Amino acid sequence: MSSIAPRPSDLVPPSATPSRIWLSAPDLRGNEKKYSDEAFATNWVAPIGPNIDAFEREFAACVGARHAVAVASGTAALHLALRIAGVGPGDEVVCSSLTFIASATPILMQGAKPVFVDSDAATWNMDAGLLAEFLEKRAGVGRLPKAVIPVHLYGQCADMDPIRAACAKHGVTLIEDAAEALGATYKGRAPGVFGKAGIFSFNGNKIITTSSGGMLVTDDADFAAQTRHLATQARDAAPHYQHSTWGYNYRMSNVLAGIGRGQLEQLESKVARRRAHFDAYKSAFADLPGIDFMPEATYGRCTRWLTCLTVDPKLAGTDREKLRVALDASNIESRPVWKPLHLQPVFADCEMLGGAVSEKLFENGLCLPSGSGMSDAERDRVIAAFRAVFGKH
Ligand SMILES: *Cc1c(COP(=O)(O)O)cnc(C)c1O
Repeated sequence: MSSIAPRPSDLVPPSATPSRIWLSAPDLRGNEKKYSDEAFATNWVAPIGPNIDAFEREFAACVGARHAVAVASGTAALHLALRIAGVGPGDEVVCSSLTFIASATPILMQGAKPVFVDSDAATWNMDAGLLAEFLEKRAGVGRLPKAVIPVHLYGQCADMDPIRAACAKHGVTLIEDAAEALGATYKGRAPGVFGKAGIFSFNGNKIITTSSGGMLVTDDADFAAQTRHLATQARDAAPHYQHSTWGYNYRMSNVLAGIGRGQLEQLESKVARRRAHFDAYKSAFADLPGIDFMPEATYGRCTRWLTCLTVDPKLAGTDREKLRVALDASNIESRPVWKPLHLQPVFADCEMLGGAVSEKLFENGLCLPSGSGMSDAERDRVIAAFRAVFGKH
């Protein structure tokens, strides 16, 4: 009797385990290495340097903002924005409910409390009507929130005109979470430039990546200067270390900024590729009952950062979770749509405006592999595995 345990590869022939298809994998195919090699060659392996300066300049030009400040993550960028906006203990900040937790954790980091808003079914983003109603009501009792954070979900802009108008009417600071929406447009303009500040993420799964990193954009020179100051341990201008306040170590590395520069040059082709995945899924599933896709708002371009669809179990004869498990069995990663933050235990005591739309989207929503590096053959594998659940080829 052999005492050697069989290896997994002895049990399953390699042909039966095709490589995993990820939801949104990094896709590096340009000058990323060239720019980061320059950091090594010139010894700018530091949180300052030419790649950071260039990346900030190029990013600001790309989104049409006056200033861009590169930082360690999207979460760090949002935290800085809230601190500079003066959000503090006892304040409330309004935020979309249907989003990743990082849209709201900076509110907690500042000792403030989130108030969540439901989605508009037409865009899946913050319902501007509910926001306006809430601000009106709170203005009446003299208890306005300190800031509003609309999220541009899955590559689609929120309806910024009514959101901006509601904030402007009551003098509430508007900060956009555009972490998922680089490359999107709202009436011809990039997200992130409609309020006091906007934030972006370059996490490994985003449309462009620096492995991890973020950016804050603003038209306000003083806001940008404060962002830089607080991201650099709040060092005053002095030869010794002098601090009138305290900050954070939130800077981006000059090596990673080189990756970002190379990635940013490819933004348009990455948007086109993700949109092509969406179009392919949509036509491949056109005959399947009970499947609907996230609508594209008429006011702009959605990048389709992730292709998202909903499954109506009554019509489909299957459900979101069965589809997810079936895809996983074929070594394909898919994910439920974000669980709304008002349903998260950590936010159980927070106020929620509405809720039925985002709850339904979570119940029935699924995100499919959408990376710009995914090949046509891999996408065909996803399509075949998805259709097989419906008994179709
Ligand atoms: C990714 C993401 C963030 C956080 O960005 P990090 O760079 O991962 O810190 C914030 N908000 C949304 C909506 C995101 O998807």
